Amino acid sequence: MRRKLHYENIFWIGLIHILALAAIPFFTWSALAVCLIMLFTISPIGVNMTYHRLLTHRGFKVPTWLEYIFSTIAAMSSQGPMMLWVAEHRLHHRFSDKPGDPHSPREGFWHAHMTHLFFHKDFEDEKSQWLKYVPDLTCHPYYHFLNKYYVLFIALPAPFLYLAGGMPWLMWGMFVRIVLMWHVTWSVNSMCHRFGYSNYDTKDLSTNFWLTGLVGAGEGWHNNHHAQPACASHGHYWYELDFTYGLIRGLELLGLATEVRRPVRDRKVITAENYQMAPEPA
Ligand SMILES: [Zn+2]
Ligand SMILES: [Zn+2]
Repeated sequence: MRRKLHYENIFWIGLIHILALAAIPFFTWSALAVCLIMLFTISPIGVNMTYHRLLTHRGFKVPTWLEYIFSTIAAMSSQGPMMLWVAEHRLHHRFSDKPGDPHSPREGFWHAHMTHLFFHKDFEDEKSQWLKYVPDLTCHPYYHFLNKYYVLFIALPAPFLYLAGGMPWLMWGMFVRIVLMWHVTWSVNSMCHRFGYSNYDTKDLSTNFWLTGLVGAGEGWHNNHHAQPACASHGHYWYELDFTYGLIRGLELLGLATEVRRPVRDRKVITAENYQMAPEPA
């Protein structure tokens, strides 16, 4: 069956890549520093900790007001409507590398990395289809607001960057940072279902890949994560550095994160409790 092209995604992803290339002549060391600082704050706090480990898998709990603040930071990451992000990722775990997985490398490395975004997916076009995967989010009016107006939050840092550092900070803090962030996130779906090693005998292609583990602030220990999706820590051994889990531990020490789920380091034992990935679809 021929799939319908997703012109909106193609335009947006293409445009931001072109603007990231256009940023090269504006290079300054301070612009690079701004880009990296934003990359290594918005991405681990917003995408890894909030969208992934908190909202998708409920690997720990924070007070609702703090969940709203983190979700607002996550909206700046330019990864689409938040509820769709969570629903799509829950689908990925439900059908990992099987029919129904939105981005398995069984359909090609680049499909898993990014080109799956260039086509409409059946579930994505039917809002009622994917909303049933996020009943724990749809009960929050604020998440409906973020889901609808996330573009405002993507653009929010732009005027501040321009006022503080002119075009170099704007171009590098927005477009280069977003492109780098995209490719790091996407490499979890591509590299971490293709290259690397596995600690657990999951029945999918998931792997632990060191490069994504490092630049993805812990998200690259993806075989560990597929084995125990609800676990807040993706690094299960001392050499699997997990900066995002460090943030969660910091919140826990401050008394702001509770019910933090720890790994079970036994390759034969994947407990039902640790395997629980998310609320079942309604
Ligand atoms: Zn995966
Ligand atoms: Zn996950």
